[in-house]
Amino acid sequence: MDTAICTDDGHTYTAVEFSSLTALQLERKRRHLVCEACGFPAFFRKASRSGRGACFGARPHEDGCVLAAADNEIRLPGVGDDQDEAFNPGDRIVVELAFGGQGGEVHLDQNERGPRRPRGGRYIGEGGPRAAQMHRRLSTLLRMLVTAPNFRYSDQLIAVNDQPELLARDFFVHLSNVTPQYTGQFRGYWGQLTDARDGTDGVLWLNSGGRAEMSFCLPLEHKQEIMERFRLDEEEDFSGSYILVLGTLQVSRNGKMFCVIDDPAVVSLR
Ligand SMILES: [Zn+2]
Repeated sequence: MDTAICTDDGHTYTAVEFSSLTALQLERKRRHLVCEACGFPAFFRKASRSGRGACFGARPHEDGCVLAAADNEIRLPGVGDDQDEAFNPGDRIVVELAFGGQGGEVHLDQNERGPRRPRGGRYIGEGGPRAAQMHRRLSTLLRMLVTAPNFRYSDQLIAVNDQPELLARDFFVHLSNVTPQYTGQFRGYWGQLTDARDGTDGVLWLNSGGRAEMSFCLPLEHKQEIMERFRLDEEEDFSGSYILVLGTLQVSRNGKMFCVIDDPAVVSLR
């Protein structure tokens, strides 16, 4: 998008104009951007050291937004590649938290079968239909969340280590839907980031909007590994990126919702 509206001051900015704001103004206003056409939240990304120009993007647009097509060409090359994937109720997805290496991450184990389950997914011993069991990496799950609209609303069971298994529609929580009621809940929190900001003790805060929105706390000891793994040259590259973190929501004493990325294996970015 060439322009975006800042709801903080009601002004319509070009990316160049927005770049010329003071650091303090930019930091505040970038969390209050919306698409001119659909009004959905937008993000701003500064010009990069490698020469990419400053730009706006949506997080994402409303379905059918007239400005969506151009954005999608830039940001979502994978759109549509999961449209035909079937999401069968009761299928069980075992989340693989190990990473490293790229190829072969999507496979269906035809011979591997989960416990017998009724349609609702509860274990009933012998009898009911056998559910398929699949193994999926975080990167694949994030791709499905972004590109396959039905996946996040599906009744597939999500199995993560020794956590209680939940249906996909309960397990994955979009960042715009996070409320304090999720405090203490282990979930797959996902959505798009507005910006990254240095905190105390070398911590990097990955924000999804203003103070009222959830943020992720990336500790110093994992920062370099994560930036290298997802090929981020600079902290500005977090702006507009999709993120999926498996973790537990916390709320600070002054009401800020956040989740600590305490292990590089629990995060994926795209
Ligand atoms: Zn839009």
